Amino acid sequence: MTRSDVVVLGAGIVGVSVALHLQQRGRSVTLLDRRAPGEETSLGNAGLIERASVVPYSFPRELAVLARYAMNHNIDAHYDPLFAPKVAPWLFRFWYHSAPERLARISAEMLPLIENSLEEHRALIQASGLGHLMREVGWIEVYRKEASLEDGVKEAKDLYAPHGLRYDVLDAAALKAREPALSDVVVGGIHWLDPASILDPSALVKGYAALFETRGGRIVTGDARSLEAAPGGWRFATSDGPGEADQAVVALGPWSDDVFSDLGYQFPLAVKRGYHMHYGTTGGAVLNHTLLDVDKGFLLATMARGVRLTTGVEFADRDAPPSPIQLDRAEPAARELLPLGDRLDSEPWLGRRPCLPDMKPVIGRAPRHDNLWFAFGHNHHGLTLGPVTGRLLAEVMAGETPFTDPAPYGAGRF
Ligand SMILES: Cc1cc2nc3c(=O)[nH]c(=O)nc-3n(C[C@H](O)[C@H](O)[C@H](O)COP(=O)(O)OP(=O)(O)OC[C@H]3O[C@@H](n4cnc5c(N)ncnc54)[C@H](O)[C@@H]3O)c2cc1C
Repeated sequence: MTRSDVVVLGAGIVGVSVALHLQQRGRSVTLLDRRAPGEETSLGNAGLIERASVVPYSFPRELAVLARYAMNHNIDAHYDPLFAPKVAPWLFRFWYHSAPERLARISAEMLPLIENSLEEHRALIQASGLGHLMREVGWIEVYRKEASLEDGVKEAKDLYAPHGLRYDVLDAAALKAREPALSDVVVGGIHWLDPASILDPSALVKGYAALFETRGGRIVTGDARSLEAAPGGWRFATSDGPGEADQAVVALGPWSDDVFSDLGYQFPLAVKRGYHMHYGTTGGAVLNHTLLDVDKGFLLATMARGVRLTTGVEFADRDAPPSPIQLDRAEPAARELLPLGDRLDSEPWLGRRPCLPDMKPVIGRAPRHDNLWFAFGHNHHGLTLGPVTGRLLAEVMAGETPFTDPAPYGAGRF
């Protein structure tokens, strides 16, 4: 039987970051996952450390947009009609929190996490020698229609510039200068200069996990659902035999409910599914920045493996088989933009963004247990927010003065 101060359940970007920050504060930590670190949601994302995302992705309020979504023919959003009645109450809560005045408050509450996200990654990247995985070149929204470019520029000026975020508005020629391989279907873009991107998000998480091990941390294979209360803490099963810990942290991303439900908690955790596929390019074409095709609703990122196309949101049961309709719709549009070559993966990758309807994660103590902590629900921005979440939770657990008030992320708010 091995015993540690803390067992962290889940070795995605969030769990690994929590483990590292607890370790930094002198705690002995066991990190438990059923797979190797960084092989689920934290593997397949678009790789953005989204320092510029000071307004969370909200539910659209414009009738025209809602009508378009209702048709279910879109690239950026899709729903399984059989799942729609099940997810409707969650969507209603999401819509409620997306009202302009509530969204403004939520954005302000998320700001301390977003503002510190890049610095916290930089510290871990430096400590783990992973600088080759990060590119600090920002990312570009590209537009096919003049009218949507104008809307984007207005939004950038009204919503984002007041936060001191840096961006360049690009006409077609300026865009072409930064991305020579782009075709003429685009009329311009907005280049967000503050964010960074990661060329292989899974390798990043594995590198952070290796740092944790080098510093004496223990990574074990096991099923988090084996967690049970024991005298003085918690007991759990691993492939190396039983383990015990004084405290437990649930950082299981979209699977967090598999453990918190058994412990008597209910949170409105839902998933927004998304897909990716890698492509080669033809004619030596190179993509210099991650691109969001705003008018079509998909993203292209340069990754170590090739150009990664990631799709928007699919509402379907977490465990339902993949239905990559959006990828099939996005691919022809992507080929209009860039000279893409063959698909490089045998199957589309499916991931599940762990989402709460108020667009904030849960970071903090479980309301009815002194020795249980939560760190899940990071929505569209878990890669961005993993390290800053690790720091905040570890500060609270260690009784330090946290760098920001943790109350907005508290588990008691539901
Ligand atoms: C298409 C797409 C694009 C995205 N793009 C971005 C982006 O550009 N930037 C960004 O910041 N975010 C992005 N995200 C979101 C981001 O990927 C997630 O928010 C983040 O990866 C969540 O991390 P996590 O550690 O909470 O979950 P995960 O990475 O899923 O980790 C959870 C871990 O728990 C383990 N686990 C689950 N159940 C059990 C069990 N019973 N026993 C043991 N272990 C278990 C899993 O194996 C897994 O390793 C994107 C997501 C998608 C789907």
